[in-house]
Amino acid sequence: MIPNAFDYYSPTTVEETIGLLQKYGYEAKILAGGQSLLPMMKLRVAMPSVLVDINHIDDLHGWREENGYLRIGALTRHVDLENEQHLKESYPLLSKTAEWIADVPVRNRGTICGSLVHADPSSDWGAAMIALHADVEVIGPSGIRRVFIDDFFVDTFTASLEMDEIASAVLIPSPIGRVGARYMKLERKAGDFAIVGVALHVIKANDGTVLDSGIGLCACGDVPVRAKKAEEWLIGRPLDKETIKQASLLAQEDANPATDLRGSAEYKRDLVRVFVKRGLEEIADELR
Ligand SMILES: Cc1cc2nc3c(=O)[nH]c(=O)nc-3n(C[C@H](O)[C@H](O)[C@H](O)COP(=O)(O)OP(=O)(O)OC[C@H]3O[C@@H](n4cnc5c(N)ncnc54)[C@H](O)[C@@H]3O)c2cc1C
Repeated sequence: MIPNAFDYYSPTTVEETIGLLQKYGYEAKILAGGQSLLPMMKLRVAMPSVLVDINHIDDLHGWREENGYLRIGALTRHVDLENEQHLKESYPLLSKTAEWIADVPVRNRGTICGSLVHADPSSDWGAAMIALHADVEVIGPSGIRRVFIDDFFVDTFTASLEMDEIASAVLIPSPIGRVGARYMKLERKAGDFAIVGVALHVIKANDGTVLDSGIGLCACGDVPVRAKKAEEWLIGRPLDKETIKQASLLAQEDANPATDLRGSAEYKRDLVRVFVKRGLEEIADELR
């Protein structure tokens, strides 16, 4: 189908963008990579009369480390996080997640903040950002605010953003200690959204115990889910067989998947157990 008619703006600053959002309100939609918005417009599920294309705002591109955080600009593409050597070494969950998203054309265009704002419970970045304990930086008429990722996802396809606000960056705490990560995903066919996805991030202390852990679950609820009980269980314990087994059982308790064409809730919950166990075993081997 053909989208409805719309006016097109291409601002070069965040301030200009916010001005346009204030002027047009709910009539306006931000365009980032277009990989979710444009298919919805073609289906006329979304019919904005104004598109605000943020791709020419330099401040929203690229990533840098500052003040103990990795700051990833809103327009950083999935592919940028897949292939960067420094990120692979220091923040391995980023590349391990990015390589599972869709296919190369989608990864070349889609952006991290576009994915988070879209707030699909099946978003791979949603689960990964939960595991990384990220914050989303939001800019609006009254300034900048930071929203913890768990609070950013309000409901299915609803993020914690006012109509005149823009997500400007994601902030990930820089790890202190040895880091291990895995992104485990089962899909019906290559490049599809997840039947279930599990993001695992572990920081190991010098004494061999777990200093910090993050476990995000994809397609296991109305929003991306934190496996909080399993995360808490891991902290201060060695990554041995018994610890891992118990963590995999606890992770299931926070998963609330729906039965649908991709599988039954029971099957998906068991996938969570298998993925947490398998992923943590791989991390334990790697960090040994
Ligand atoms: C064929 C296909 C397969 C896919 N498979 C997967 C998959 O396996 N896993 C996965 O996680 N995703 C998948 N996706 C989704 C993909 O990752 C999208 O790139 C992502 O969901 C949206 O990012 P975007 O930059 O394209 O956002 P857009 O489509 O441009 O925007 C999405 C929404 O977010 C808003 N928005 C965008 N950026 C901002 C911002 N900075 N501030 C405020 N609002 C903003 C827009 O107004 C819009 O409402 C797939 C998409 C396609 C087309």
